[in-house]
Amino acid sequence: MTQTPDLHTHSTASDGTLSPAALVQRAAAAGVEVLALTDHDTVAGLDEAAAAAAGAGLALVPGVEISVTWGGRTVHIVGLGIDAGCAVLREGLAGLLEYRRWRAEEIARRLAKAGYEGALEGARAYSNGTLIGRTHFARFLVERGAAADVRGVFQRFLVEGKPGHVHGEWTTLEQAVGWIRAAGGEAVIAHPARYKFTRTKVKRLIGELRECGGSGIEVVSGSHSRDDYFVYARHAREEGLLASAGSDYHGPEQPWIELGRLPALPDGCRPIWTRLDLPAVPGRPVAACA
Ligand code: AMP
Ligand code: MN
Ligand code: MN
Ligand code: MN
Repeated sequence: MTQTPDLHTHSTASDGTLSPAALVQRAAAAGVEVLALTDHDTVAGLDEAAAAAAGAGLALVPGVEISVTWGGRTVHIVGLGIDAGCAVLREGLAGLLEYRRWRAEEIARRLAKAGYEGALEGARAYSNGTLIGRTHFARFLVERGAAADVRGVFQRFLVEGKPGHVHGEWTTLEQAVGWIRAAGGEAVIAHPARYKFTRTKVKRLIGELRECGGSGIEVVSGSHSRDDYFVYARHAREEGLLASAGSDYHGPEQPWIELGRLPALPDGCRPIWTRLDLPAVPGRPVAACA
């Protein structure tokens, strides 16, 4: 393996803009040899991605990024090497999709009060019709001229304290890790720097992840600075966690994150991909349901 694996990406199965097949083809063309598709709260894109990976000569790691409420905040847990057919995992994710449906209606109600009618239909038109996230609302509000870009919409409408923000509960850390473990996967804390937790709180999150059976933390991430790589490499070393790497690619509309450009993990990290039993035949599932 010559390139750092990319173990965190999105497709149109959640809030990415490339289909699973197009994502795999773009990754292969960029020289990525090992790719995980980790859509938010769904495994719906994995079959298409696996089929495309077999044709593209790339090893696909089946994954998912689960939304968790922890310490009063939303934390994302990536599952890698999951068996997407696992009933425990599927039932858990179905509950999160149900919550997303309720939340989407609630966001739309709030945006209507703020003067933006038709946001549910508008957001749905940017989605696959099944899973609606804040990014889909953001794309709709850009279309409506509410802000110049998706980031601007988040800042003005969709984050805590803003008119379209909905405070709700995702699932617990324990449940998310439990579903991933039941599906034979490794549970990884996604983009830890994004939460802006104190050092003590990061240690607490890592401790609880480990108690639940989780094993990894993203050290190299598209949302991390170079300094962050070293901060979280140290956490991984000190707490005995495996280190992961992922771009968090959502599509070519975000040109500051591109596939195939991830740097190597800092020295001293134990890479999580040594645990992943990478498929000898690209595109084959790598783990069985426990
Ligand atoms: P959701 O899971 O529906 O609440 O949406 C979370 C997704 O929104 C993240 O995975 C990002 O893709 C996107 N997102 C969150 N915060 C921001 C932000 N400040 N700017 C742009 N995109 C964001
Ligand atoms: Mn996203
Ligand atoms: Mn995330
Ligand atoms: Mn992500």
